Amino acid sequence: MRLKTKIHLLTTLLMLVIVVATNSGIYLLYEKFAYDTEYNQLQSRANDLSSTLSQLNAQTNLQQVLRAYMPTDGAVYIYDGERLKTKVQATLEMQEVPAITYTMPAIWIDGTVVDITLQQSMEEVERTLDLLKVILVVVSVVATIPIFLASLVLGRLILLPLERLNETMRKSASTGKYEKIDTTEKGGDELININRTFNIMMEKLEQHYQKQQEFVSNASHELKTPITVIESYAKLLLRRGFDNREVAQESLQAIANESSRMHEMVLQLLELAKNKEQLDVHFEQLELAPFLNKVASQMEQAYHRTFRIDAQIPKFIYSDEKILKQLLFILLDNARKYSEDEVRIQATETTNHVRITIQDFGIGIPVEHIPHLFERFYRVTEDRNRKTGGSGLGLAIAHELAQQLGITIDVKSKLGEGSSFTLCIPKEGQQ
Ligand code: ADP
Repeated sequence: MRLKTKIHLLTTLLMLVIVVATNSGIYLLYEKFAYDTEYNQLQSRANDLSSTLSQLNAQTNLQQVLRAYMPTDGAVYIYDGERLKTKVQATLEMQEVPAITYTMPAIWIDGTVVDITLQQSMEEVERTLDLLKVILVVVSVVATIPIFLASLVLGRLILLPLERLNETMRKSASTGKYEKIDTTEKGGDELININRTFNIMMEKLEQHYQKQQEFVSNASHELKTPITVIESYAKLLLRRGFDNREVAQESLQAIANESSRMHEMVLQLLELAKNKEQLDVHFEQLELAPFLNKVASQMEQAYHRTFRIDAQIPKFIYSDEKILKQLLFILLDNARKYSEDEVRIQATETTNHVRITIQDFGIGIPVEHIPHLFERFYRVTEDRNRKTGGSGLGLAIAHELAQQLGITIDVKSKLGEGSSFTLCIPKEGQQ
């Protein structure tokens, strides 16, 4: 059975049960109330009659008194034990109509104890109850129509966004495109929100897909150059290398350079391809001075350059040692590649942050390039890249690592004077 039909049937049924239960309740309450009222009246009438009888004498016209206390459409019977002493009654035969009776003892004129029984016809009440029954049944039947229509509308209202969602997903699956739902409705009910969330999800997927496509095409484009260089030198080596030692030397050198560049690039690509969730981040308290000393001395050993650490440094930071080291290596390596002089490492602190600045006095970066530095494969000029062997992936990796640690990177640079990259590390770290 379709969900729409289920909702339709269930709500209609439920509402009908509620209407019938309410109407039955009204009927029963009214019936009880009507009977109780009549019974109480009968009781007080009997009490009045009893006290009147005790004050009468032999000369009184008894029938007249009894008639005065007789209920409308009712009767008064006086019993002396089992024997009917006297009675007054309305014209109709009491046995044939629904009635209520009330019996109580009383003192008769001659001083004996008798039972007085008052009887009251309930025909009028029953008639009213019958009328009420008809009205309630009619109301129940009439109420079914709007209930039926309302549940139909309710079913549509609930299912329309879901049907649209289903339709869009089916379309997406068949066309292979990231289709979105047309959500022009304002407001924020759950169903509209589902559609919005779906659209956001589709947009994210589309962005991921595009990024991936871009990445793959960029990567293959970048790898094409070193492969072409290797291929052409290998061919040269084949043609003339065995006769000419100089050509052989040059070819092998170029092949070795390009291979190691490719190796480096593949490692960087793998780093970038890592899923962010796969990165294991362990925040801990790090003593900053020994940490920076270790990083700087490793760089000095590898490149025989000076990396000078500022003496005034805050004592601790809260971060992941391995990831932060990787991040610093990328920035220090760039500072080294694009400058000749010493590289400076400074650390200062503000109320909420520790700031580590890597400063070089090298070629600098033109200001219009700064906003793009962290994009994948972005290089300021091909020429620089040729000399340094960079791939344009270093800062993209640095950016992702920084994000993992909740760090922002601030870049300042002046062409011909040098650059500084500042890591803004939150003091509380990022859990
Ligand atoms: P690459 O591997 O090419 O160095 P990066 O992503 O690390 O790639 O850097 C991107 C570009 O930013 C580089 O091509 C370089 O031109 C420029 N750059 C990065 N750091 C510096 C720096 N300290 N000084 C000058 N230019 C820099």
